[in-house]
Amino acid sequence: MFSDAHCDTISRILDAGQDLYENDGHVDYRRLKRQVSQIQFYAAWIDPKYEPGGCLTRCLDIIDKFYIECEKNQIPVITKPQDVDGGGAVLSVEGGSALCGRLSALRMLHKLGVRALTLTWNGRNALGDGVGEGASAGGLSTFGKSVVAEMNRLGMLVDVSHLSEKGFWDVAQASDAAFIASHSNAKRICAHQRNLTDEQIGEIVRRSGFIGINLCSDFLREGGASIDDILRHIEHMLSLGGRETVGFGADFDGVDDLPNGVGGVEDMGKIADALLHNNYDEGLVRQIMFGNLHRALKQILKN
Ligand SMILES: [Zn+2]
Repeated sequence: MFSDAHCDTISRILDAGQDLYENDGHVDYRRLKRQVSQIQFYAAWIDPKYEPGGCLTRCLDIIDKFYIECEKNQIPVITKPQDVDGGGAVLSVEGGSALCGRLSALRMLHKLGVRALTLTWNGRNALGDGVGEGASAGGLSTFGKSVVAEMNRLGMLVDVSHLSEKGFWDVAQASDAAFIASHSNAKRICAHQRNLTDEQIGEIVRRSGFIGINLCSDFLREGGASIDDILRHIEHMLSLGGRETVGFGADFDGVDDLPNGVGGVEDMGKIADALLHNNYDEGLVRQIMFGNLHRALKQILKN
């Protein structure tokens, strides 16, 4: 069983002219479908090079590719709570720049099946500031707050990965519902700007949200990571109460450097085995590998 809250596979295969069934990246359906039950989020990542005018059309190109591949491979698209048990694909957008400053675009993307939105990428957009803005980063704009409220109303997953710390706390204040960090690790273990402080992790835990462990080597450990480093981040999140919160957002096909021993989705079983070898009980391993994202999705989506 495997669930994952973030990959950039569709954007990558669109540009590379490849198929989802079999390709030379980190994720393809041939490898993914070996899992008895699987939920895979596919992000439409909006590269800043498409700003300002090309973001929405880029987003539509990736969504088009997502549906072509889901139909070809007969992958169910999860849009409602009752779809979650059957497993399948969840469509997400990474970068609120795709909205071009309009709530109408959010509502139309929802109608196209988008169920999660990473509010920012690293830079600034109309919704707020990403972590890449550094010390001068602000939080959410008024528009960003209205996007969060509309996402709550529609039953979409608000994703705070990449968002500035100030923006994170603005989301915590603006959101009625649980929210997620789809692909972010613990700053206490690896002091990267993309990772979350203990206070941020604690807030997501308290709200019954979800945090996906990112397998980007640089976010796991400076100077090269191993499967042990993945376990250190998981262990830390568990120490902050994350038994029902922590899972994976591996960032496959979005990162160049994976930990030693991990080449792609086919190696996720090695992480499950490592957890079992470290005396994690089977129920907890199942929650981390699958159940926690399944639970968050079912809880936040609406009919
Ligand atoms: Zn990302």
